[in-house]
Amino acid sequence: MFGRAPKKSDNTKYYEILGVPKTASQEDLKKAYRKAAIKNHPDKGGDPEKFKELAQAYEVLSDPEKREIYDQYGEDALKEGMGGGGAHVDPFDIFSSFFGPSFGGGGGSSRGRRQRRGEDVVHPLKASLEDLYNGTSKKLSLSRNVICSKCKGKGSKSGASMRCPGCQGSGMKVTIRQLGPSMIQQMQQPCNECKGTGESINEKDRCPGCKGEKVIQEKKVLEVHVEKGMQQNQKITFPGEADEAPDTVTGDIVFVLQQKDHSKFKRKGDDLFYEHTLSLTEALCGFQFVLTHLDNRQLLIKSNPGEVVKPDQFKAINDEGMPIYQRPFMKGKLYIHFTVEFPDSLAPEQCKALEAVLPPKPTSKLTDMELDECEETTMHDVNNIEEEMRRKQAHAAQEAYEEDDEMPGGAQRVQCAQQ
Ligand SMILES: [Zn+2]
Ligand SMILES: [Zn+2]
Repeated sequence: MFGRAPKKSDNTKYYEILGVPKTASQEDLKKAYRKAAIKNHPDKGGDPEKFKELAQAYEVLSDPEKREIYDQYGEDALKEGMGGGGAHVDPFDIFSSFFGPSFGGGGGSSRGRRQRRGEDVVHPLKASLEDLYNGTSKKLSLSRNVICSKCKGKGSKSGASMRCPGCQGSGMKVTIRQLGPSMIQQMQQPCNECKGTGESINEKDRCPGCKGEKVIQEKKVLEVHVEKGMQQNQKITFPGEADEAPDTVTGDIVFVLQQKDHSKFKRKGDDLFYEHTLSLTEALCGFQFVLTHLDNRQLLIKSNPGEVVKPDQFKAINDEGMPIYQRPFMKGKLYIHFTVEFPDSLAPEQCKALEAVLPPKPTSKLTDMELDECEETTMHDVNNIEEEMRRKQAHAAQEAYEEDDEMPGGAQRVQCAQQ
């Protein structure tokens, strides 16, 4: 750019924004910025534009080199110095370098984007109910990218690299779209030729270890500890074990537990459910059976003397459910759901024997006369009442629909006939 004539007004603005004299020391600048930034933080209801200005001003004046350029030539000179696109100042980055990223984090302002963060790698991890009850560890072999040790992630033998010709080394490609006669839109995208790194490596100089890729594949065995009481979808994280890449904070490997179905037990939170079928005799006269628990202990389950178990009844045993995560000495409940199997039919002598011991039938006071006046009926079996009701409803809906459909159709037919 030509005619870089220093204008007097150009190089005082940043001082005015921070409210300090041109002679202010670094310490003064820091204090002034601190005070003003807290007051104007958008999360605290401050003006975002003002906040951005403050950050911009502080970013320049706190850097002795930039401050010198600014003092001599003003704001525009700095923008040129930054290489075309202008100085990119993220006010939140500057702010969090002062106060830590946690300040006012709710507004999504805590963005540490000084260094790229690699992606997390997420794997499902199947675990049986026994695993989750007893705890276990599983060794898993994974392959991951690691920085090539031969070139230390440079990709070249000499350590040198050239600017990518596709993006002139910026890593970004800018495309300009004309939106109107006096409006253009600038769009930035990572350069496809260098994958956003901004550099390219001479073919002859490529590192033989990684062929210029900067990373190599490595097999790694991870030992995953499944702890007692862990839940479905619980995450087990290995921080920084995902793929490595140059200038990137390595992401995590995350295992997400997937509980396998069990043939005997069902789990609901910290409780276990177990299905057991009793014969009618057991339900009436008592029972005992052995239940093999998830740690292979044999539990003796038995009814109390004289107790009758009804169909569909639940009973529970305290402290025989799942262990509670990180408090494995505490356990949920074990619920037992009883189904009672009734005999399909009984012979007349069996009925007589049962009637002799069971509570008497409600006495029928119907006289022969009254019986004569009744109508005979026949009952048939209904195997699945829900299914039968559903079928009936669907049928009724279908009929209503057909009736609806007939009305206007019929009217139209009449009209047609009249024409
Ligand atoms: Zn490029
Ligand atoms: Zn290499």
